[in-house]
Amino acid sequence: MENLSIEFINSQWYGSHPPFKDGLGDTKWMQTWQNKWNIVLPDVISENETSRLYNLRNLLSRSMEFLSREEEIPEKLVIELNGFLEGFPLFYSINKGDGGYAKSIYTKGSLVDQVMINIFSSFLELVSTNDLDRIKRCQNPTCGWFFFDESKNNTRKWCGNTCSSLIKVRRFRERRKNRVDDNAQN
Ligand SMILES: [Zn+2]
Repeated sequence: MENLSIEFINSQWYGSHPPFKDGLGDTKWMQTWQNKWNIVLPDVISENETSRLYNLRNLLSRSMEFLSREEEIPEKLVIELNGFLEGFPLFYSINKGDGGYAKSIYTKGSLVDQVMINIFSSFLELVSTNDLDRIKRCQNPTCGWFFFDESKNNTRKWCGNTCSSLIKVRRFRERRKNRVDDNAQN
């Protein structure tokens, strides 16, 4: 399952994934991300709004870190999350979807405010309706990505194929190196 907030949070972990720099600071990454999620951000984002975007990412990322360790989000952090939401007047709207209607939540602030609320509500959706023990962090130590494990037995360890094959190759090399070392000692 893909989730807007997870992808937004993961933009800060780029050791194993393109563009190999912070996605929020990369025009191409931002464009792809906006197209994928139907997001419209203004061409120029003010300094104040940029720093609020980074703050939101930091806040959600810290929360996700606790959840991925199967810990509760500490009360202090919950207060911070609610404090962020209190900064926006929020409204519900009804939208025609495929074969039914969908609810969405919006704010009457700027475009950037609207995007931040979309990100935040996808985070809320994730933590309020899904199994929290399926929120995980990729076990490739240079990756850092969070993901939602949809495997039958909840046993996935990697964010995707890139990391799983990278680790397999690394382990294979280590085993081979150990064998070579053993042979050299004998
Ligand atoms: Zn990974």
